[in-house]
Amino acid sequence: MVTRMSSLFVRTLREDPADAELPGHRLLVRAGYVRRAAPGIYSWLPLGLRVLRKVEAIIREEMEAIGSQELSFPALLPKEPYEATGRWTDYGDNLFRVVDRKDADMLLGPTHEEMFCLAVKDMYTSYKDLPLMLFQVQTKYRDEARPRAGVLRGREFIMKDSYSFDIDGAGLQKSYDAHRDAYIKIFDRLGFEYVIVHADSGAMGGSTSEEFLAVSDNGEDTFVRDASGYAANVEAVEVPQAAPVAVTAGPAHVEDTPDTPTIETLVTALNANHPRADGRTWTAADTLKNVLVTLVHPADEDHPEGRREPLAIGVPGDRDVDAKRLEVQVAPAVAEPFEEADFAAHPELAKGYIGPGVLGAQNTSGIRYLLDPSVAEGSAWVTGADEHGKHVLDLVHGRDFTADGTIQAAEIREGDPSPTGSGALTLARGVEMGHIFQLGTKYAEALGLKVLDENGTLVTVTMGSYGIGVTRAVGVIAEDNHDEIGLVWPREITPFDVHIVAAGKGEEIFAAAGDLAARLEAKGVDVLYDDRAGKVSPGVKFKDAELIGVPTILVVGKGLADGVVELKDRRTGERREVPVDDAVGAVIAEIGGTR
Ligand code: ATP
Ligand code: MG
Repeated sequence: MVTRMSSLFVRTLREDPADAELPGHRLLVRAGYVRRAAPGIYSWLPLGLRVLRKVEAIIREEMEAIGSQELSFPALLPKEPYEATGRWTDYGDNLFRVVDRKDADMLLGPTHEEMFCLAVKDMYTSYKDLPLMLFQVQTKYRDEARPRAGVLRGREFIMKDSYSFDIDGAGLQKSYDAHRDAYIKIFDRLGFEYVIVHADSGAMGGSTSEEFLAVSDNGEDTFVRDASGYAANVEAVEVPQAAPVAVTAGPAHVEDTPDTPTIETLVTALNANHPRADGRTWTAADTLKNVLVTLVHPADEDHPEGRREPLAIGVPGDRDVDAKRLEVQVAPAVAEPFEEADFAAHPELAKGYIGPGVLGAQNTSGIRYLLDPSVAEGSAWVTGADEHGKHVLDLVHGRDFTADGTIQAAEIREGDPSPTGSGALTLARGVEMGHIFQLGTKYAEALGLKVLDENGTLVTVTMGSYGIGVTRAVGVIAEDNHDEIGLVWPREITPFDVHIVAAGKGEEIFAAAGDLAARLEAKGVDVLYDDRAGKVSPGVKFKDAELIGVPTILVVGKGLADGVVELKDRRTGERREVPVDDAVGAVIAEIGGTR
C-alpha cells in the first residue's frame, strides 16, 4: 500500500507539547501518532494506529500459537459479578462506575477475570472441556490516581488479557508455562530490553506470579537482581526474618534528647551527649523509627467511606517505608498519611518521639504495630520514649517490647543481602509490560465455576490470568527507540516499511518517486510517500521523515539527474547512493523482506 503524505491525516509539530514528561511521549505527540483527549486518555491517529495494530498482530500471533482463542467482552459491565468477587469495593477509586437510566450500577471493566469465569461456567460442565485458553485485545478503564507519560499509564488503555482454565494444578502449571514462553517470544519481537521478575500478585490473589518489565530509568517499578539470576519486583522481595541474637545491652534507660524529632537530629545528639560504651559512633541504623499511617479499608455497610485504622510500622532509622511495598501489603486497604487530626485523636502519641511503649493492639494506644523483619529479637534500639524530647536507649526487642507482627514494607536498597543468600542485591527500574499469574481457584470459587471430573465429582476449576499492556507497549517502544530528532521504529512494528521523499521541484523527481512507490507497493511493501509539492521544502520533508521514524528512507532528489537515489538508514544515519533501477531491490534487501 502507498500512503501519501499529501493526504495523510497528520500535522507534525515542531514544538514539544507542554504536558509531555518523557521524550518518547513527546515524539509520539509531535510526530502525530497520538493526541491527548483528556488526562490519561488518548486518541490514536492513523500513524499511531498502524503501530498499535502491528503490536496487536504480534501478540495475537503468539497467543494463537499456544492454542489460545480470541474473543471479546464488552467494556461496559454489570456490577454483580464484581460484587461476588469483592472487587466492586476492592478496586476503590480506581474503578470507573456508571449508573444506567434504570439506576443500575455498572462499571467500565478494569480487567475481566469475572466475565471469562462466568462465560466458561455457563458453557462448560466437564473435565473433558478442559484445558481451555481464551484471550481478548480490549479496552480497559482504570481511574488511575496518577496517569503518566501519555500512553504509558492511561485511564483508558488497551490490554491483551488471557485466561486459562484447568482441572488441576499440574494443568495450570502447563498453561502458565505456555504463556510464559509466548510472552518471551512477544517481547523479543517488540524491540525493547526486558527482564522477568518475581512479582506480588497484589489485589488479584493467587500465588505464583511473574512480571515482564521493560528496563527503563523512567519506570515506576523498581526491581532487584542478584548474581544467581534471581530477579524480583521490590514489591515481592521477602526480607528474611533476622535470627534472634543474644542480648548484650544493659537495662533500657530513658534520656533527655531535646529537639530531636528527626533521626538526623537524634543521631547528632546521641553522639554529642550519649557516646556509646563500645566507642563506635551512633548511626541512623541504631535507631528504630516508628512510622504511622492510616489504613482506609474498602467501604462496607457500616463504613460507607471505608473503615479507617491507624497502623504503626517500626523500621530501622536509616530506612524509609516504601510506599509501593506497603501498598501491596495492606491491599485492598489503602495507606494514607497520618494527619494532624489523627495525632489529635491519639494524645498518647508524642509526635517525633513515638516508641513501642504505647504502640501495639494490646497497648495504651491500641494501634496495631508491625516491625520490619530485619529487627532481630534480642537487638537493642534507640527509639522514642513517648514523651516530648525524650528517647529510650538499649530497648531490646523481645525483652522490653514486642510487636503485633512483621511487615515487608521497608525500602530495599542497593547492596542489601539477597533473600537467596547469593550476595548483594542490585536495583534498577522498569515499566511493567506484562504480568502472568496463577490465580488458582479464587475467582472460580467466588463465582462457582466447577466441572465434573473423571469420577463424576464436582471440582473447582483452577485459573491463570495473563496481561500485556498493548498501548503501553507502544509507549515503551517509543521511549526505547528514538534520538533527539525523532522516533526510530524497530522493523517489526514500524508504521511503514519505507518512507520515500520526493526532494525537489522537478516533475521528473515526482514521476520517479511515484514510480518507485508503485513498484514497491506491488512487491507488498508498505510505503509512506512524501509527495507534497509546492511550498513544502525538502528540508521540511527530511525533518518530518526523521521525526516519524520509518527505519528506511529513500530520497529521490538531485541525484536523479545522474540516475541515482539515496537510501538512508534512520537508525545509524548512514546514507548510500543506489542506481534508480536497483532501488526497489535495495529497499527490499534493507527491510529484510523476501518479497
Ligand atoms: P501497574 O502496576 O503498572 O499499575 P498493574 O499491576 O495494575 O500495572 P495488571 O492489572 O497486571 O497491571 O495489568 C496487566 C497489564 O496491563 C500490565 O502489565 C500493564 O502492561 C498494563 N497496564 C496496567 N495498567 C495500565 C495503565 N493504566 N495504562 C496502560 N497500561 C496498563
Ligand atoms: Mg495498576
